[in-house]
Amino acid sequence: MIRDKSPLSLSPEQMKSLGYRTVDIIVDHLTSLRQKAVSGKGTRAELDRIVREPLPETGMNPNEVLDFVEQRVLTEIMHLDHPRFFAFVPGPGGFVGAMADALASGFNVFASTWLEGPAAAEIELITIDWLREICGMPEGAAGLFVSGGSAANLTALTVARHELLGDDFHDGVVYLSDQTHSSVERALRVLGFVSAQMRKIPTDGRFRIITGRLSEEIERDRKNGKRPFCVVANAGTTNTGAVDPLRELSAITREEGMWLHVDGAYGAAAVLSKKGKALLEGLSTCDSLAIDPHKWLFCPFEIGCVIVREGSLLKETFHIMPEYLKDTERVKEAYNFCDYGIQLTRGFRALKLWMTLKIFGLNAIREAVSAGIENAETAERIIAGSSKWTVVTPAQLGIVTFRADVEGLPPDEIDELHRAVVERLINDGFAFLSSTVLLGRTVLRMCTINPDTTREDVRETIEHLDGILGELLK
Ligand SMILES: *Cc1c(COP(=O)(O)O)cnc(C)c1O
Repeated sequence: MIRDKSPLSLSPEQMKSLGYRTVDIIVDHLTSLRQKAVSGKGTRAELDRIVREPLPETGMNPNEVLDFVEQRVLTEIMHLDHPRFFAFVPGPGGFVGAMADALASGFNVFASTWLEGPAAAEIELITIDWLREICGMPEGAAGLFVSGGSAANLTALTVARHELLGDDFHDGVVYLSDQTHSSVERALRVLGFVSAQMRKIPTDGRFRIITGRLSEEIERDRKNGKRPFCVVANAGTTNTGAVDPLRELSAITREEGMWLHVDGAYGAAAVLSKKGKALLEGLSTCDSLAIDPHKWLFCPFEIGCVIVREGSLLKETFHIMPEYLKDTERVKEAYNFCDYGIQLTRGFRALKLWMTLKIFGLNAIREAVSAGIENAETAERIIAGSSKWTVVTPAQLGIVTFRADVEGLPPDEIDELHRAVVERLINDGFAFLSSTVLLGRTVLRMCTINPDTTREDVRETIEHLDGILGELLK
């Protein structure tokens, strides 16, 4: 049968109607977000009942499908972009970034080889260069956009392993702190390191790696014939916003001929604020850095970034040229991002950060980052002034942790109480905070990086917590 039309085509009118309505749905969502519940609470069984249906053999009206998505799917999610979502690391997202994603996928941009997407590569080079400048890293540093911090850590650690250990890395040892994000350990596992090759160094009273202990471990490993090759430092731990002493670590790694990788997935963007910049002193001295634009640079998921000080090492690590890609190397100066990381086919992630920076300008981003830091300070002040709670770690890089102050209740029961508070929050939907464990005790944790969050949101959320605590203690 000869067709003159693809079975997958829509008329221009149908496409526009689908597209305009999609934009309407997004804008309605964003403008009514504060009034919405933070959490969707569908259980697996409920959602199975609402959403599951047989594999569709025939298509249906796009508008009905959009109705379904709007009413039954996008309602049953937690809103990480909600101004009172304070759990984990919020995903403020951004409309500009969402539209950039639509453009990138509307043109199905292939951001992999110069041949297939020269301007996409150019925009990515420029945007990475802007991030490099923001983080104070030298010219010659290079990087790429990846799915997130996990992939950024994996990419950086692959380079470190390749450069410092080579193919046989069974005696290589890597050092992290007891506050390091789990994605680092997972990346090491993916790379083939076993637990015996990872040293978890204890942290001080402010949850920063104890450099004396680190040096001792390195020395001991050397004596035992191991090859210490990499230190992973935190530029903002997920637990408390703690920043490891970056300059000191960089002195140690330089002296030892080791690699310093900094995980700044959420925290590195704070370098845009005055306070953050002071806390992140030494950030620019790292050998590689992970930073997530989908956290504190206000881009929608997924966009992470890895920057390597000696940019050429990325290509040294990842470049392989098969015969079927030879045509992509026609011109010498061609920059093929597929040679610098794990992915061959890559979407045009850079566009959302580039457009966000272009449309708002760095000054607005600076202001938004600073607001996040100040909101955590506001939360800390309110909590410190309350008889119901005690500040456990002061506001730092937009995170404050605290614990209920209940006289006469055993610590284990207070731990339990915090988990009950989180349960209540999930159920009532007014706001959301998550708990974590610090020094063996459960605490509540508030991360305030959403630029739409107001002081009122912060105040009302703590009042709401007061109410929940009161009810639980009745
Ligand atoms: C969020 C986070 C990660 C993981 O990043 P993803 O984007 O979720 O993959 C790694 N490290 C830190 C410190 C983080 O906050």
